[in-house]
Amino acid sequence: MTMLHEHDNELATLISQEQERQKLQLQLIPSENYVSKNVLEAVGSVVMNKYSEGQPRKRYYQGNDNIDGIELLAKKRALELYGLDPEEWDVNVQAVTGSVANLAVLSALLEPGDRILSMYLYDGGHLSHGWQLPDGKKVSFSSRIFDVSYYQVDKQSERFDYNEIERIAQEVKPKLIISGGTAYPPEIDYERMAHIAHEVGAYYLSDIAHEAGLVAAGVNAAPFPYADVVTMTTRKTLRGPVGAMIFSRREDNQSYHSREGFNDRINRAVFPGLQGGPMNHSIAGIAACLKEASTNEFRSYAKQVVSNAIFLASELDGYGFHIVSGGTEKHLILIDLQNKNTRGRNFAIALEEANIITNANTHPNEQGSPFYPSGLRLGTPAVTSRGMKEPEMEKIASWINTIGGIVNGMPLKLGEFSKELEKEKTTLHQIAHEVAQMTANFPVPGID
Ligand SMILES: *Cc1c(COP(=O)(O)O)cnc(C)c1O
Repeated sequence: MTMLHEHDNELATLISQEQERQKLQLQLIPSENYVSKNVLEAVGSVVMNKYSEGQPRKRYYQGNDNIDGIELLAKKRALELYGLDPEEWDVNVQAVTGSVANLAVLSALLEPGDRILSMYLYDGGHLSHGWQLPDGKKVSFSSRIFDVSYYQVDKQSERFDYNEIERIAQEVKPKLIISGGTAYPPEIDYERMAHIAHEVGAYYLSDIAHEAGLVAAGVNAAPFPYADVVTMTTRKTLRGPVGAMIFSRREDNQSYHSREGFNDRINRAVFPGLQGGPMNHSIAGIAACLKEASTNEFRSYAKQVVSNAIFLASELDGYGFHIVSGGTEKHLILIDLQNKNTRGRNFAIALEEANIITNANTHPNEQGSPFYPSGLRLGTPAVTSRGMKEPEMEKIASWINTIGGIVNGMPLKLGEFSKELEKEKTTLHQIAHEVAQMTANFPVPGID
């Protein structure tokens, strides 16, 4: 950063401030993590100067020998990490983000107007699975192109009722079923989902954006034995750069046979279907993170991520918070705040005053909107990367409880809420100070 400070101080200052923020505050957003210095170095490298449209060894431009080597290394490491036979599976590492990866799969396997069955957004589904509002407004591009139906969680247990999903699948007769979400704390029964899909002649896409690292470490179950396609982001629990991977079977096991390889259709959907030249720096960063994810250290890390989340959820439950689905089996926790007389955004704003970073989220019994929901989502990947364990989770739960007591019953309207919150600044800043004292003891990968 010394170069940038010298030549563009305005930008360098903002970047430095962000670095300090990442060190100072508790990062509890479950989709965030800290990449290592290795990943940062790879992503900041000159490989981004090269154009490499096409597939390794089948590029449109000359001069791609090293880029081929990098992409082939990333692909090999990806298949090895998940224990997949290269004869049976291929992986595409070019999609720029998880949303684009999902769009590529939809465009590869479906025709416009085809039916998709995916998880309802308010219950924890993802925008890229084809979201349209209950009033019919089509929010995501995929919902404009495809005919999307949804399955929801059971409102009582806040978990999937697979018999009900099966009933909907048989009624809707989709060509593709998608599982995976941003805020579903239990593990998904991939075998059952695949069975439901294949029974109605649909493809099964398993999106493990959030769980990628937990699956790699063997802490969460893997969808590979059952799914036709698996997508994931590399930046969440996998602790890599912004990027995505699409794993697909080489042969089409479903009824829509085509002479072309199944994986070839997906590769073509990424380029030239949706993208131009790949982000070679991201691909290099993915290769770096995959090497790290294959170590014993990473496996212990992933195990601790889940232990921390289970412990934090049980502490919060002890304080009377309504933990959606009754707990967690992964890295994330969803709280329904309706019994705490506040909204997710109000609570998240108060927590931020105390150096605790979370996000407002919808939940299965949501009465609000996605921007102003009554849920709060927390996760342990980033704090666990800093080495925090159960004693720190105990402190975090206690701070969250204190702040929950402060916001309980305050006006919901954000203007009035902020004025009321102003009066509680002393307590919030005292907690902010205690948080800073704790975070100072835990070095940040990639920064310290
Ligand atoms: C995060 C996420 C994605 C991808 O998101 P991007 O921000 O586009 O990388 C896709 N699916 C699910 C379920 C996710 O949680």
